[in-house]
Order: sequence, then structure tokens, then C-alpha cells
Amino acid sequence: NSFMELNLSRPLLRACDTLGYQKPTPIQAACIPLALMGRDICGSAMTGSGKTAAFTLPVLERLLFRPKRIHAIRVLVLTPTRELAVQVHSMIEKLAQFTDIRCCLVVGGLSTKVQEVALRSMPDIVVATPGRMIDHLRNSQSVGLEDLAVLILDEADRLLELGFNAEIRELVRICPKRRQTMLFSATMTEEIDELIKLSLTKPVRLSA
Ligand code: AMP
Repeated sequence: NSFMELNLSRPLLRACDTLGYQKPTPIQAACIPLALMGRDICGSAMTGSGKTAAFTLPVLERLLFRPKRIHAIRVLVLTPTRELAVQVHSMIEKLAQFTDIRCCLVVGGLSTKVQEVALRSMPDIVVATPGRMIDHLRNSQSVGLEDLAVLILDEADRLLELGFNAEIRELVRICPKRRQTMLFSATMTEEIDELIKLSLTKPVRLSA
């Protein structure tokens, strides 16, 4: 029951060590091996369970081992609020600190121009709130999701509660069909089930 046994590479193990993580939390121990196999995952997990690292570590591992030939956004993380996006972005930067993987934040309340420049430089990972992400995709020819490999829907119940259903559906439609999708939610409702049917393929269900 250690990070080493999860087959993560050195820069990621070093980051976990630097952050003082001694062993994976239950959701990490369950999620990381399946995510590394490329499976779609649907996790019932609360804040505090370690879910952010549970989806970030396998995503970083994938980016390290399947380097891209072209500059493109490879991973999109959608969160319901700006505050959560800021937290997730900061967590990803900490876990990626010993790699050259770049992560950018796209949320309302920050300058659209500055974000546009950041997006055009094609970061590997984008953490965004749905509305602002759609604005950028609509208004800029140079920002696209054609090469997206992984889509993450974080706190899916709150995404729906806050009225982002249409935006999420639109973003899922824009993403390539062949991709990995991970959805996390504190509660599982009928609406979440519908979203799962729409956006995940043969998901493994995990709870923590
Ligand atoms: P989250 O549930 O993703 O919001 O994470 C909650 C907190 O747990 C964050 O402050 C993380 O830095 C911390 N954390 C995540 N994974 C571990 C771990 N394996 N060991 C100790 N702390 C962790």
C-alpha cells in the first residue's frame, strides 16, 4: 500500500514525497491503477478524500509516457466554481512540479485576454469552469479540443446544481469520442446517472 506499488514514475513519486503523502488514500489506491489502464471512472468521493490526486497522478503519468507530437490541450478538468478550479489547478501544479507538464486556469473573473494568451500557448492541462471554457472555444479559432485525451468532471453534482447541464453537454460533444473520462461526485442522483450515460464508456464505479 504505497505510491511506489502504483507504478508511478519518479518525478511523481518525488512530488508525493515532497507533499508529505506517505501512502495512497483509499480512492487513490482504487482509482490510480484503473485510470492508468485507460478505464473510464465514476467515483463517489467527497472533498478531503484525496480525489484530486486520484485523477491527477494517472493523468500526469499518461502525459509523461505518451508525449505529444504537437502542442495541444490533452486534458480538460471541469469544476463547478472558480474557487475549486483554483484549488485543483494548484494541486496539479504541485504534483507536476518535477515534470515539464504545464497546466493553465480558465475561469470567470480573470482577464479573458490573459487566458487567451495562456490557452494559445497550448498547455497540456486546462482546469476550467464550463461557461468560461465555452466562451474561449467559441471566440478563438486557435483554441481547440481536437487532441483531448482525458476529460474530468469534478464535483459533477454541483456542476448540475449550479445549472451547467447544457454547457457540459456541449463540451462533451466537442471532445473527441475516443477519450478517457473520469467523473467524481459526492452524491449519485438520476441526473448524474444521465450525465454518466452521456459522457462515460463502460465506467468502473468506485466509492470512498
Ligand atoms: P482532495 O480530496 O483532493 O480535496 O484532497 C484533500 C487534501 O488531502 C489535500 O490537501 C491533499 O493535499 C491531501 N492529500 C491528498 N492525497 C493525500 C495522501 N495520499 N496523503 C496525505 N494527504 C493527501
